[in-house]
Amino acid sequence: MVTSMEKLINHLKTQGFIFQGSEIYGGLANSWDYGPLGAELKQKVKDLWWNYFIRKNHYNLGLDSSIIMNTEVWKNSGHLGNFNDPLIDCKKCKSRFRADKIIEEKFPDFNSGKLTNAQLEDFINKNKIICPKCGSLDYTSIRNFELMFKTNQGVIQDDSSAVYLRPETAQGIFINFKNVQRSLRKKLPFGIGQIGKSFRNEITPGNFIFRTREFEQMELEFFFDPDDKFDWFNYWIEEVENFLTKVLGFKSESYSKRVHEKEELAHYSKATTDFEYNFIFGRGELWGVAHRGDFDLKSHSEGSKHDLTYLDPLTNKKITPNVIEPSVGLERLILAILTESYCEEDIENGTRTVLKLPKKIAPFQLCVLPLQKQQNDQAFNLYTELLKDFDVIYDETGNIGKRYRRQDAIGTPLCVTIDFETENDNCVTIRERDSMNQKRVNLSDLKENLKKEFF
Ligand code: ATP
Repeated sequence: MVTSMEKLINHLKTQGFIFQGSEIYGGLANSWDYGPLGAELKQKVKDLWWNYFIRKNHYNLGLDSSIIMNTEVWKNSGHLGNFNDPLIDCKKCKSRFRADKIIEEKFPDFNSGKLTNAQLEDFINKNKIICPKCGSLDYTSIRNFELMFKTNQGVIQDDSSAVYLRPETAQGIFINFKNVQRSLRKKLPFGIGQIGKSFRNEITPGNFIFRTREFEQMELEFFFDPDDKFDWFNYWIEEVENFLTKVLGFKSESYSKRVHEKEELAHYSKATTDFEYNFIFGRGELWGVAHRGDFDLKSHSEGSKHDLTYLDPLTNKKITPNVIEPSVGLERLILAILTESYCEEDIENGTRTVLKLPKKIAPFQLCVLPLQKQQNDQAFNLYTELLKDFDVIYDETGNIGKRYRRQDAIGTPLCVTIDFETENDNCVTIRERDSMNQKRVNLSDLKENLKKEFF
């Protein structure tokens, strides 16, 4: 596990995973660009989520809704006017902070989510929580800061054309509930999930890719009859935990579950449990599972004057389904995966940095290497052959030890080396990333052998 954020950021930059956004222009605060390896990693994590929660789950279906929606969506979801964070300014140095976050930085186990703005102010003054920038204790009072990004659609740039970038993907699902249910003839219970960009004008983004203003969410809204006695809330908590431990291989000590207290629940929520990961900077929300009751469908029914109820075919009863929402940020999950898999190990002649990524999400599954120049052509041909079935990279530069280190550093699970003996025995060496064990495999059995490793 990595213990320094700086080390992790440097490693990911030099290896082509994540670069500072707009770097050649001095950057844009807290924006990040994903290089070739980061883009692969992101894509594979999305595929894994989609497979687990949508494609292979017989209850669920996928969706891809718009980022910009009718402003009525945000009025009726309760975001417009209510989606804000408590902003506090230091009068001395003019720095701006999220009041709840400066408290939690000082008191990591204190839950400030349940306090009103007046109570937050009181707590800050009583506990003498000084400005994290200049150290003075002289703040303005707290104001609510609107988190949605506002822009205009069309040629007229006034309030009549104002639109918002979505701050969550969930609302696109609620407004399409009836379309999906009808067109796919779905019976309750069923879920609709989607992956997509969301935008929040966060007061204090930071901690690398943990909190950014542009990020991707993977959200599932699971609809069920409120009279259904099955415990769907805990069912989805278990599914999230399975995904983290069984699919991604997270260690149980790396995360914990936090049950929200009544006072801190969002107004629409009946219960919420967060999976919190032990990030380098401390514990932070990774994946929230919320019981949203019937709030969203009811609000959109009333607001749009479209009936979003479900007609039970057995009882002929009209139902407004209840909803369980497991929601995770892709980049936060990537940060947790990278934290979990980064290792520095002492080896015979020095140290090596390894990303022990699960095989399913490593940017490359294999690297093909010729031991010496004479084998370059044969190795390159093998590389193009293996590309038909695997994600492969080819590397012919530098000594073999260095090349293995390079693959360790980007998390490639297996290296396939063509050496002097290949010509005589038709065998190649397969080297395993984590154990560094090597075995020889006949070229005629190679693909079958590798398929067993990956599929
Ligand atoms: P926080 O308390 O950290 O601001 P939140 O409770 O507002 O998070 P939700 O609205 O529940 O977050 O969003 C669901 C998920 O989306 C979060 O669990 C997180 O993984 C991700 N997420 C939310 N905001 C951000 C952000 N600014 N940057 C990256 N990921 C985010």
